[in-house]
Amino acid sequence: KADIQSILNTLGIEFENHAYSTGSNWGGSSNSEIIVSSSPVDGKEIASVKVANQADYDLIIKKAQEAFLFWRTVPSPKRGDVVRQLGDALRQNKEALGTLVSYEMGKSLQEGFGEVQEMIDICDFAVGLSRQLYGLTMHSERPNHRMYEQWHPLGIVGIISAFNFPVAVWSWNAALALVCGNVCIWKPSEKTPLTGIACQKIIAKVLADNDIPEGVSNLIIGDKLIGELMTNDGRVPLISATGSTRMGKAVAAAVGARLGKSLLELGGNNAIIISEHADLDMSLIGAVFGAVGTAGQRCTSTRRLIIHEKVYDTFKEKLVKAYGQLRIGDPLNQNNHVGPLIDKDAVKAYLDSIEKCKAEGGNFVVDGGVLEGENFSSGCYVKPCIAEVKNDYKIVQHETFAPILYLIKYKTLDEAITLQNGVPQGLSSAIMTLNLREAEFFLSNQGSDCGIANVNIGTSGAEIGGAFGGEKETGGGRESGSDAWRAYMRRQTNTINYSNTLPLAQGIKFDL
Ligand code: NAD
Repeated sequence: KADIQSILNTLGIEFENHAYSTGSNWGGSSNSEIIVSSSPVDGKEIASVKVANQADYDLIIKKAQEAFLFWRTVPSPKRGDVVRQLGDALRQNKEALGTLVSYEMGKSLQEGFGEVQEMIDICDFAVGLSRQLYGLTMHSERPNHRMYEQWHPLGIVGIISAFNFPVAVWSWNAALALVCGNVCIWKPSEKTPLTGIACQKIIAKVLADNDIPEGVSNLIIGDKLIGELMTNDGRVPLISATGSTRMGKAVAAAVGARLGKSLLELGGNNAIIISEHADLDMSLIGAVFGAVGTAGQRCTSTRRLIIHEKVYDTFKEKLVKAYGQLRIGDPLNQNNHVGPLIDKDAVKAYLDSIEKCKAEGGNFVVDGGVLEGENFSSGCYVKPCIAEVKNDYKIVQHETFAPILYLIKYKTLDEAITLQNGVPQGLSSAIMTLNLREAEFFLSNQGSDCGIANVNIGTSGAEIGGAFGGEKETGGGRESGSDAWRAYMRRQTNTINYSNTLPLAQGIKFDL
């Protein structure tokens, strides 16, 4: 087992940590509230962090505004070079940061490393992007005129992130926002503040080594009250918020009321359609990893399997057998498949959902329950479970952030797609089939209504090269690859007249 204390030392985490950081400058009032971060792995307290107050917040805004005046003048490829150095620093810290992610959040060590790898990958992507922030050139309808568009930075980007990807979500936003010329203020989840502090120490060193003013990348610790300061603040033109749909609705209302921009990455209720033409062995891996990986706490976790009636019983049997082989326990032990839920509130939500599912008529083919005993002393380890349900049960329509998998039977592909789309969320979706017609129909405009639609891959996880996000109650935002960078910039259309007359558009005459 990793020596957590030496990991904390490597990452510069102390027992008591400050409430905010502008670059490498840490602070916070001495009498502020405290968040104690304890690990769901063993229930032990790791360290505590002070919570920022209004004065801390205002100071961060001031530092960020000052830093923006400088940062926007740095050529984008030079900004890219700073992000390249951030990627290198993350490479050096991959093992320590990945281990802390695993210990503070509870995901497996492999997934903790994977999360840091994703941060490295997005930095690499952003470096290339820094030379490709292209605008279009248009033909003007007027003679001797030139028309084109260019993209400018917005200013301060507020990043509010969830506990389940405690660090990757920051990097998806920050790497892009920074090459685009913005400065960032990050409020990590109050459930995982230490990994946030570790990232801030890493980026602050890169900024200091390059003599870049503090305030280009800032961290602020707090719960939703700090989030609300950001969402209501006209000095923060873009809020990128990742979390529950409940949170997203509150953020959208606050930012919308001041006509700011928001980029929302909210809950999912993801399904895999398992066709009669599926490779069932491949489907099994996709379904089980999707449902139990990260203990069902991914926005892209597989929550529903929509299975063709001809293969339903066979596949159910395979699933039950596979669930019997799952090893649940310490996620830092690489022999285990399933780690803990984030905290006891999450355990309660899991148990409530099981009860609600039973009350609506759900038939559990693999039972759930909380694990007890020496190896499960945090009280956060639960059994992944499977229930046969109807898609319209209230609980099935709802995202429970836990390893509860619902099975639904179908007859025709049309029916399967209607079931798959028949939830309020629209993040990730998949079909397992070797039939080309089925696959293409699922991907067509008559198919999945989700932001992500896969063939012969599960719903869980994504590569950074594509735009990531979903429709409906998932919030509509897109982050990461493709042209997601545009959300972090403002578009300006420029028309230049190099003639010696002033013709008006649409041929309008105005003679003096
Ligand atoms: P959460 O909604 O409880 O909290 C997320 C963040 O929002 C936290 O930092 C929290 O302090 C802040 N917050 C809460 N209410 C706020 C408000 N009114 N104003 C401003 N900030 C507020 O979510 P969680 O439990 O940390 O994370 C799990 C949820 O996140 C799941 O629903 C999951 O699907 C979703 N998620 C989505 C994506 C995605 O990319 N679509 C990725 C990861 C997680």
